[in-house]
Amino acid sequence: MAKKGRVFSGARPTGRQHLGNYLGAIQNYVALQDEYECVYCIVDVHALTTVETTQNLRQNTSDMVIDWLAAGIRPEETIVFVQSHVPQVMELHMYLSMVTQLGKLTDLPTFKEKVRHQPDNVNYGLVGYPVLMTADIVLYKSDIVPVGIDQAPHLEFAREIVRSFNYRYNTKVLIEPQAKHTEIKKVLGIDGVEKMGKSLNNQIELAFTPEQTTARVREMVTDPARVKRTDPGNPDVCNVYSMHKIFSPQADVDMVNVECRRAGIGCVDCKKLLAKNMNQHLEPFRLRRAEFASKPGYVQDVLNDGAKRAAAIAEQTMKEVREAIQLP
Ligand code: SF4
Repeated sequence: MAKKGRVFSGARPTGRQHLGNYLGAIQNYVALQDEYECVYCIVDVHALTTVETTQNLRQNTSDMVIDWLAAGIRPEETIVFVQSHVPQVMELHMYLSMVTQLGKLTDLPTFKEKVRHQPDNVNYGLVGYPVLMTADIVLYKSDIVPVGIDQAPHLEFAREIVRSFNYRYNTKVLIEPQAKHTEIKKVLGIDGVEKMGKSLNNQIELAFTPEQTTARVREMVTDPARVKRTDPGNPDVCNVYSMHKIFSPQADVDMVNVECRRAGIGCVDCKKLLAKNMNQHLEPFRLRRAEFASKPGYVQDVLNDGAKRAAAIAEQTMKEVREAIQLP
C-alpha cells in the first residue's frame, strides 16, 4: 500500500519502557507504520543537555529499542536509529541556528522551565534545543510529526525556523512539517496521582515478569474513600478501574463497574483480575522481547541498518542545503 508521507518522531533514551510510554507513545508509533513511512530516532544528543552522567546512555538506548521492537515497531520498513549516528544533523543544526533569533529561543516557556529546573547548568545546548529538534525533523524531509496538544507550539516554532531558512536563502529545499495531532494518553502511576514515571518509582515496566507486574498491581492505590471491604467504591476515581478499561475484556470492565459500587467485589480481587488481564495482554510482548534478547547484536544491527538508511536521506538533504546556502 502506498504510504501517505513520512513521519518523524524522536524520543530520549530513557531505558526500559513502562505502561505510560507504551500507551502514551509506542502504541501510536506502531499504528502509524500502517499508513506512513516512519523514522523513529533515539535522541541521545538532546539527552546530553540534561543528563548528569552518560554511563547508562548505551544501555538505556538498547533497552528502549528492544521494547519498541517487541511492541511492534517493524525495522524492516521503519527507520529506527540513534541521533548521533547521523552527524549531518549537527551540521544542519548549525545552519538553522543562523536564521533563528536568540531572543525567541530564550523567551520560549520550555527554555524558561528548564532554567528553573537546572539553574546551575544552563548550557548552550539547552538554548538551541528547539533548533536541533527542527534539524532532526527536516533533515529527513518529514511531512508529519505526531504531537500532543501541549507540544503543538514546538512544532510551530520549527515551522518558523524552516520558513526563515527558506526565505533567507530563497529556496524551498526544507519542508515545513505538519502536525498530526495525537491524543497522548496520560497514564497515572501506581500511586494513582502522578503521571507514571521512573523518577517517582510508580511505574509498571513492560519487561517486568508476570510476578513483578502482579506485585505492582497489588500496590496500586484505589478509591481512597473505600476503607473497608464492605464500603461501596467509586471506580470513576480509581486508577485500577482506568487500567481495567485498557487491559480487561468488556465483560470484566462492566462487572467491576457494577460490583465495586455495591461492594460486591473487593479491591484485592479486583486487582487480581486486573493483573491477570494485564499479564495476558503483555504475554506476546514478553515472548518477542525474550526472542530479540536471545539474539546477540540484534539491537545493534537494527540501529546500524537504521543509521545507514537515515544517513542516505540526510546526505541528500545536506547536499541541497549546502547548495541553497551557496557554500563555497
Ligand atoms: S473494587 Fe476495583 S475499581 Fe473499585 S475501588 Fe477497589 S480496586 Fe478500585
